Amino acid sequence: AARTVVEVCQGPVCTVDGVEVAVYGNAASAAEVAAAVSYGADGIGLFRTELLLSGTVRVLDEEGQVAAYTAAAVAAGGRPVVFRTFDVGGDKPVKGLSVPHEDNPFLGLRGVRLCLDRTDVFATQLRALARVARDHPNVQVMVPMVSGLEELDAVDALLGELAAEHRLSVGAMVEVPSAAVLAREFAARCDFLSVGTNDLTAYLLAADRNNPSLGSLYNDLHPAVIRVISTVLEAGREAGVKVSVCGELAGDIHALPLLVGLGLRAFSAAPPIVPRLKQLISEIDSRQAERLAERVLRASRVEEIAHLLATWPSEEA
Ligand code: PEP
Ligand code: MG
Repeated sequence: AARTVVEVCQGPVCTVDGVEVAVYGNAASAAEVAAAVSYGADGIGLFRTELLLSGTVRVLDEEGQVAAYTAAAVAAGGRPVVFRTFDVGGDKPVKGLSVPHEDNPFLGLRGVRLCLDRTDVFATQLRALARVARDHPNVQVMVPMVSGLEELDAVDALLGELAAEHRLSVGAMVEVPSAAVLAREFAARCDFLSVGTNDLTAYLLAADRNNPSLGSLYNDLHPAVIRVISTVLEAGREAGVKVSVCGELAGDIHALPLLVGLGLRAFSAAPPIVPRLKQLISEIDSRQAERLAERVLRASRVEEIAHLLATWPSEEA
């Protein structure tokens, strides 16, 4: 069988009509950051810090975190690294930190909610990140599972108490539907936004992505999901705030022309797919992609969208 060799492209990539699109990698360790860089990633759009806890609260002390975040920041060689604060609870339980029994853990104390409940743990993490950011200006911070502005207020208050002389760049994940509805307000408040399509899809469709009995009900190409992503991108554009997508959808090569057409200019995906994403972006005409996006936004069923993506670029597109 013929093998297509995809060359690694270091540096920014543009569409054929000259629109620059950033392609970041997702990582959870300094080794994965280094791998992402070797695949040509323009930085790390999602560093999952909760994986440093490896299922227990063992590595929680400030010095251990400073070492881990420094190693990751150094491995990125000056490229931006977005550290997501502990996203614990729900599908990511951590012994000694998350609530052991909840009737609905996915609607429970998880992500930023848990961090604001355990401000001892959260403040330690923010202090560690602020310390690393002082020497590594490529460090950015992102807050998961935000559902309202009140939580952003609380995070700001906590950061204010830390009195770090270096102002951190702080963004929010848009993965709870209420945050997407308030996208304008979130964009006005945050340094950047990142759409977590995994949780956003699950919450919009009330469908657990890991429940096989749901069949195809969980689908990040559902028209409701695509329209919500589109409104978040629009809010970011209006506010002049960068919006990325860091869920699985960002690594779906069939969705790539649609996402570019919707105006996405920053992808964050698993490192091995980065070279392919960059290559495909370099072959796309953004105006043609926009016409695809217009048609997809008018579609009201998953299969129509699947058909539009499968037949793209078609003559009428
Ligand atoms: C997401 O929800 O889309 C996401 C990127 O975060 P995680 O998969 O870690 O919940
Ligand atoms: Mg998530």
